[in-house]
Amino acid sequence: KVRVRFAPSPTGPLHLGGVRTALYDYLFAKNQGGEFVLRIEDTDTARYVEGAEEYIEEALEWCGIIADESPKKGGKFAPYRQSERRDIYDRYTEQILKTDYAYIAFDTAEELDAIRAEYEARGDVFSYDNKTRNKLRNSLTLSEKEVQQLLDEKTPYVVRFRMPVDRTLNLEDIIRGKFSVNTNTLDDKVLVKNDGMPTYHFANIIDDHEMEISHVIRGEEWLPSLGLHTLLYEAMNWQAPQFAHLSLILKPEGKGKLSKRDGDKFGFPVFPLNFTDPATGNVSKGYRESGYLPEAFINMVALLGWSPADDKEILSLDEMAKEFDLNKVHKAGARFSKEKAEWFNHQYMQQKPDGDLLQILKSSDLNLTLPDDKLLKVIQLMKERATFPKDIYENGKFFFEAPVSYDEKAAKKAWNEETSGILQELARQLETVEFSAENLKQAIHDFAENKGLGMGKVMMPLRLSLVGELKGPDVPDIMELLGKEETTARINNAVN
Ligand code: GLU
Repeated sequence: KVRVRFAPSPTGPLHLGGVRTALYDYLFAKNQGGEFVLRIEDTDTARYVEGAEEYIEEALEWCGIIADESPKKGGKFAPYRQSERRDIYDRYTEQILKTDYAYIAFDTAEELDAIRAEYEARGDVFSYDNKTRNKLRNSLTLSEKEVQQLLDEKTPYVVRFRMPVDRTLNLEDIIRGKFSVNTNTLDDKVLVKNDGMPTYHFANIIDDHEMEISHVIRGEEWLPSLGLHTLLYEAMNWQAPQFAHLSLILKPEGKGKLSKRDGDKFGFPVFPLNFTDPATGNVSKGYRESGYLPEAFINMVALLGWSPADDKEILSLDEMAKEFDLNKVHKAGARFSKEKAEWFNHQYMQQKPDGDLLQILKSSDLNLTLPDDKLLKVIQLMKERATFPKDIYENGKFFFEAPVSYDEKAAKKAWNEETSGILQELARQLETVEFSAENLKQAIHDFAENKGLGMGKVMMPLRLSLVGELKGPDVPDIMELLGKEETTARINNAVN
């Protein structure tokens, strides 16, 4: 049975990379008819950020990435928050201490500093390895009695992994293939801290085992931990899951990892939702609040590192799940592009029913002073050129307010001494015309023909009078929407 988990630490808001990991976890699970689990890895209390867990849950929900099991939803393997699983970890700490793979270390910060200084004096880089451990006080160098005495005296200690000496580990990653690592390049990581809480490495493999996770799909930054994790499974005598490490998301110029700060630098969000830092009160901008549709956002994220079979670009979440294939996930980093993100949103805006766009606009704080039926028409006329819902309003402001000034350059082009007279005459003729775009088109056409004027001589100043600039949808469409009274008023305003 395929079971996949997304296991974020609540150390801050989820960023683009985190969303992509969660999305690939989800897509793979769904593709395989498996389950997708959300687990909160909050054993590192020092890095805990208030509100981060709620943020992660809300962000995933907005994206439509719904977990089958989670802290909120519960499930067969609850609890799904590591801080609530202490008794489970305690049990396994006892178990691993009975093997040769772990030991109790009493070394103090001062003792460690002294050894580090020794390394540095020799010009070496410090590593907590088998030579280091032999010089310190721990359950490998002390007698059983000495260890017991220190424990009885409540001496603080940590549990460390005892990295085997000079072993070649043959590792395998679904995306990267086979590679090997020599254990001499790895150190004795802390498994349990002196407050009794397991570190990420230990809690992570315990939970993946306990929760029957079959595939671990996570960011490339965890690839260096694969050797240790593989040995931890060996130590516990457990079957390890399969691993897939996702490559980085790169900056727009393609060099280096996209960082949380790049959003400000390049002017695009790197977070799914707005996030208010509880420490500083600073607000980081989110895709949701910037006007992205969730469908467009996840479609964009999905293609950062994966290409569907026939290079299709527009896919719903369900379609992505149907097609998702870890073997088609790219080994190279994926470059983020703001233009591409906007392109996706534009595409999804066109697909969105007008009624949905109406609801989105009405739930914003825009000053929409038209009734719903007219708003729907504005949406019909303006959405083709809109990247974000608010563009419909901003580019169509003239539907809501008469122009207070006229673009100078446009006026030079559209207006001469005859124009006022022409428009006044036109306005008079339109008094008897019923204001539908079709009628108006015909009436203006006839008017121009009778007067022997080119269409531009009439349309351009008319547009300028109604819009204030030479832009917008077809003039008859604008006139129909504004209605006779408002159209006439704007013409009168312009000619005087
Ligand atoms: N808690 C880890 C993180 O925040 C999880 C890594 C993993 O998936 O193993 O990235």
